Amino acid sequence: MTAVTCELCPRGCVIPEGAAGDCRIRVNLGGRLRATTYGRPSAVHIDPMEKKPLYHFLPGAPVFSIATAGCNLHCLNCQNWQLSQRGGEEMEEIYRLDPPELVRAAREEGCRSIAYTYSDPIVFYEYVYDTAELAHAQRLANCFITAAYINREPLRKLCGVIDAVNADLKAFDDGFYRRVNGATLKPVLDALVTMREEGVWLEVTNLLIPTLNDDPAMIRRLARWVHDELGPGTPLHFSRFQPLYRMRNLPPTPVETLDLARREAKDVGMEHVYVGNVLGHEGNSTYCPRDGTLLIGRVGFMITHYALTPDGRCPSCNERIPGVWRSAELFGEQP
Ligand code: SF4
Repeated sequence: MTAVTCELCPRGCVIPEGAAGDCRIRVNLGGRLRATTYGRPSAVHIDPMEKKPLYHFLPGAPVFSIATAGCNLHCLNCQNWQLSQRGGEEMEEIYRLDPPELVRAAREEGCRSIAYTYSDPIVFYEYVYDTAELAHAQRLANCFITAAYINREPLRKLCGVIDAVNADLKAFDDGFYRRVNGATLKPVLDALVTMREEGVWLEVTNLLIPTLNDDPAMIRRLARWVHDELGPGTPLHFSRFQPLYRMRNLPPTPVETLDLARREAKDVGMEHVYVGNVLGHEGNSTYCPRDGTLLIGRVGFMITHYALTPDGRCPSCNERIPGVWRSAELFGEQP
């Protein structure tokens, strides 16, 4: 009976024969680790790119979005807990989509990109990797929506097939990570730096939870770290908390808190700071950091105004806005 150590995430689970790791889906079968949800997504939807949220990556594109059961975090406020806090064997098999069928389904639905999302796709790593490789071969982009609690080597390999990431940075406080997410801060920061080094398009989301991570000084430290380590052009999304799962005792984030966070981040020099989950807020939209021109107007996930030039510049002052605006930037012009 051989126990196996999983080296995918910082938990480093030592898994006895026949048992699963902390994420519930990585199982030791005969001394080899297998994700029980390979080819078995429990959620399949077509979403707008803005829902991920990715605001500087192929705006308005429909994304074929999938998730399986399982997660390597245990956030008290998880919005997908029925999916993330279950093992593969607890989920009824709704879809059977091995990588070739998944890529084919995305194409048939008119999607030029696939998102691995909802639960944390780190735990179904092999399914993501195999699908993403095939998708690239057919000029489909890959988006990875994650809490970034992953070890450096598997992440570096994954970055070779992933084009865009939205990563949660849940708080700039290790105690928060331990209490609320069952994780630690440093591996997340290291992973974000690795993504930047590997050249993946990166956006960062910070969900602000009243009384737990909304201290202005903490928000400022977080924004300063993103500015210094990832760059001032990194889109930073402050998102509104809603009471869910095991955290129903707190109210939704006041809009004033989100406004304050946006000001703090702009004060330290962040150029693209967004407010999420507040319909119609001016912070849903993209502005030129040099002259303030409205470049992409959004109401919720809908684009209501688009003024960027085809090569991603402000039409008034010609400032280049960081992002991936056309799929030709990833794959070259269509032959
Ligand atoms: S991915 Fe799952 S099995 Fe592997 S170390 Fe993390 S929690 Fe444990």
